[in-house]
This record gives sequence, C-alpha cells and structure tokens, in this order.
Amino acid sequence: MAEEAGVIVDTEGFLNAMEEQKRRSREARRAAKLAGGAGQVLELIAEQTAFLADEGVEATDDEFKYEWDVGTSATVKAVFTSDGFLGADDEAAEGESVGLVLDRTSFYAEAGGQESDLGTIEILTSDGEIAGKFVVNDVQSYGAYILHTGILASGSLQAGSSVTCRVDYDRRRSVAPNHSMTHVLNAALRKVLGDTVEQRGSLCNDEKLRFDFSHKKAMTAKQLRSTEEYCKAAVENAEPVTAAVMPLDEAKEIDGVRAVFGEVYPDPVRVVSVGEETSVEFCGG
Ligand SMILES: [Zn+2]
Repeated sequence: MAEEAGVIVDTEGFLNAMEEQKRRSREARRAAKLAGGAGQVLELIAEQTAFLADEGVEATDDEFKYEWDVGTSATVKAVFTSDGFLGADDEAAEGESVGLVLDRTSFYAEAGGQESDLGTIEILTSDGEIAGKFVVNDVQSYGAYILHTGILASGSLQAGSSVTCRVDYDRRRSVAPNHSMTHVLNAALRKVLGDTVEQRGSLCNDEKLRFDFSHKKAMTAKQLRSTEEYCKAAVENAEPVTAAVMPLDEAKEIDGVRAVFGEVYPDPVRVVSVGEETSVEFCGG
C-alpha cells in the first residue's frame, strides 16, 4: 500500500526502531522497579560477557526455569558490581547491591514480555548450612549469561560460593496465567479482527497483563465483547496450557500458529498451546 503511494518502507529500519523502543521501555521499567525496591541497575555489556567467556565461565544453564517448586543448587561463577567483577578473593559484603552469575539457575529471566522471577538465593557454608541470603530483585539474560541482581541481605559471598535458588513460586503462580492469557488474547483478536492483527508487544507480571497490537481502526463494542467472550471461555473451560520444543521449520507448519512479526525465534523453538485449538503460539518466554 505504501509502495503504491510512492513511499518506500524501510522495513529493517522500522524493526530496528521497534527493537530500540522495546529496549528503552524495558530499561525504564527496570529502573522504576529497582528504584522502588532499592538497589541499582546493573547490566552486562558485550565487553563483560566476553570477559566471562575468556575466564572460562560457561553459559548459565537455565533448563530449570520451567520447573516449579524446586530449590536448585548452584555455584556462584562471578559477582558483578557497579565497578566491574569482583576478583577471586574479593567478597561482597552485607547490604551491597550486586549481580550474580551462577552456573545454573531456576530463576526465569525476563523474556517474552514476562517479568523476571523474584525470590532469594541462599548462601551455604561448606557443610551446606544456610549462612546468608541474597534477595533477587531482577533477572536478565545477556547473551549466554543470566544476571541475578539484588541485595546481599545477610552473610557474604564470592565467586565459588555454593548457593540454593529459591524462586518465589507463589508470585510466579500469579504471573504465569497472565502470560498464558496474552496468548489467548492474541488468538481471540485474530479470530475477531482477522489475520492482519499483529502483536506489537506485551507485558505480564503478578498484577496485570498488557497486550499491544496493530489494527487499522478502533474496535467496536461488538468486537470487544466477542474478544472477551473468547478469553472467558478459555478460563471457564480451564483449558490446559501445554508446551513443546520443536524444530523451527516443523513448528512453522503448524496450522494457525502465531508468531510475532519481526521477532527472531531460536531453533528449536518453544511452542505453547492453550486448549485443543484456542491458541498455538511461538513463545520466547
Ligand atoms: Zn509467550
């Protein structure tokens, strides 16, 4: 349509701008969250992830993130501060705001619009006794590494410390349904408004969900009602949510599968379904 009017659409530029906008809004949210819960924004830039790789730190194993009610044993691989990584003999002290890179984690890092898990990381003595507590305020992934940012509430820790991940699963139980419902809402909008509806973003936490989409005009009251009914039916029928990891090529062939335009999905990709045919969608989260 734009071409007909003699306008050239810069698709790549548009996607880059979208990425940039998403990054900015993510950062603003994180800053607001951390300002409320004390602590500072710590993030790893390429130079720092390269440093970790050079030091021989392996990618964080996060396969436990989809498990529920588990306490995951892990080892601290690096302690990150606003002045960079602590040396091998340096300890983080009580009250300090730091970021931890672990060898493995059961914390869900922010992805697919879903906010990160919160919880605590228990610090253990060599005998396995609890010697301290780290309060996790935010979890983000940077390339191969997952950074748990928070405050050392008690005890001390350093690279090599043994810890146990204690995700706040009660909170996650409030977050996960909101994420599932963004999938249902996505399917509902496509059913009601047609195939041209595209997801533009989403946010879900323990209080709410927000779903951004493109549509050329305002929805009518009837369309809103139909969308609501579709979503309500999924809840009332208690439709099961299932997930499968499959090769990207194969997943793309699934009838009616939804994906976000411009989003790069990993291969294999995680496909989340709600009910028999309520929703089937690629999920980055
Ligand atoms: Zn999702």
